[in-house]
Amino acid sequence: MEEDNTLICYKCQKKLEAGKTYFEYLGHSFFTNILKCPKCGEVYIPEELAKGRMSQVEMQLEDK
Ligand SMILES: [Zn+2]
Repeated sequence: MEEDNTLICYKCQKKLEAGKTYFEYLGHSFFTNILKCPKCGEVYIPEELAKGRMSQVEMQLEDK
């Protein structure tokens, strides 16, 4: 039985795996823990990350 939070790649029908992924966002690049398809490399960006936590990361980067 799958867990509720298990996400499947819609292309490959593979379970997405969490891992540190190199990421670019609004001109910033950083590593973040994100769900990714092990086959095609498609990443899943949760809405909360895109809207909330991502802007936090952005602010931290701006601070430096
Ligand atoms: Zn895939």
